[in-house]
Amino acid sequence: MNALAAEPPSIGPRPRGGVLSINSYKQGASIIDGVENPIKVSANESPLGPSPRAKAAYLAAAESLCRYSDGTQMALREAIASVHRLDVQRIVCGNGSDEILSLLIRAYAGPGDDVVLSEHSFGMCRIHATAQGARVVIAPEPNLQISTSALLDAVTPATRIVILATPNNPPGTYLCASELKRLHAGLPGNVLLIVDSAYAEFVTAEDYDPGTGLVGSAENVIMTRTLSKLYGLAALRIGWAYGSHSIIDALQRIRTPFNTNGPGLAAATAAMLDRDYAARVRDHNSEWLKIMTRELTLIGLEPIPSVTNFLFVPFPDHAHGAEAAWNFLRLRGIIPRPVGAGGPQTHLRITIGLPEENRAVLDALGDFMRSTGDTPS
Ligand SMILES: *Cc1c(COP(=O)(O)O)cnc(C)c1O
Repeated sequence: MNALAAEPPSIGPRPRGGVLSINSYKQGASIIDGVENPIKVSANESPLGPSPRAKAAYLAAAESLCRYSDGTQMALREAIASVHRLDVQRIVCGNGSDEILSLLIRAYAGPGDDVVLSEHSFGMCRIHATAQGARVVIAPEPNLQISTSALLDAVTPATRIVILATPNNPPGTYLCASELKRLHAGLPGNVLLIVDSAYAEFVTAEDYDPGTGLVGSAENVIMTRTLSKLYGLAALRIGWAYGSHSIIDALQRIRTPFNTNGPGLAAATAAMLDRDYAARVRDHNSEWLKIMTRELTLIGLEPIPSVTNFLFVPFPDHAHGAEAAWNFLRLRGIIPRPVGAGGPQTHLRITIGLPEENRAVLDALGDFMRSTGDTPS
């Protein structure tokens, strides 16, 4: 994508301020040279794939590829409204929740404005805000926990938007409902609060509010969700949002009419309505999240307690660092996501996979921790 020179052209059109300072998004790795079917646990995709009903709906939609999709997105919005007991008029769908985040930032921030991001919010938010010419302000997450106080401290009269992901990514921790409420109560009414709940479907904690509770009673809050994670439809790019009438109205004005594609809408509607399948995926995840957390601890690692479909694992021991672990896993055909805060890798983020994939990850990491040190054996 970035084959062209990074230098701005001396003549001819120039992108607006900020654009050339953006480092483009890097997708998680998906191949290892010489390995035919690597175990890909780098992108928090669903190992179980989508509901068979979603696949059937997708295939059936191939019969009408010459038609524009339903620009009102009504079937999917109604399915979401019935499953989540929400007002259908306050739901809008997007080309992934990523697009909805981008539309919100475009609608509410511009040059001279501040966009406050909680440290471990979705990486694209920084890109969207910078492209708008807004200033990005990062609120730290001490101990990998979203901090209401840090977010409120970062707010100034220039703040237009506050964005957090709960659960956050990569730590996989969440902000409890009472803290989310406290955050909202501390914000001026003219600041838009975006609650990115991409992993909400996996959370079983009772004191969790993905934003639905808050949106119901507030004018300045919107929650974003996705079919890419639990529903296993990442390739089709379907996300949705639930917000106040005025925020949804702004989104409806600026989105393109066919931002969600026909086969994607059909598959997403079927996936949303297949509650048994969604429950099975959630159960599989809960079970393996527990097993993986326990077994990783037994081999001497200390994964951050996660409520999502991935584990964030620190490798503080020099002899068994994150980079060495990453190399070691790749030699076993396993692709985790290496993470380092701009510097050397310190952690691996590992998605919960199929049982045999999880076993392979545990076996490989067990061998790694028993190995003598940095050189992969
Ligand atoms: C995966 C993810 C998203 C976006 O997913 P879409 O595929 O664009 O719907 C948003 N936020 C976080 C934190 C994510 O991890």
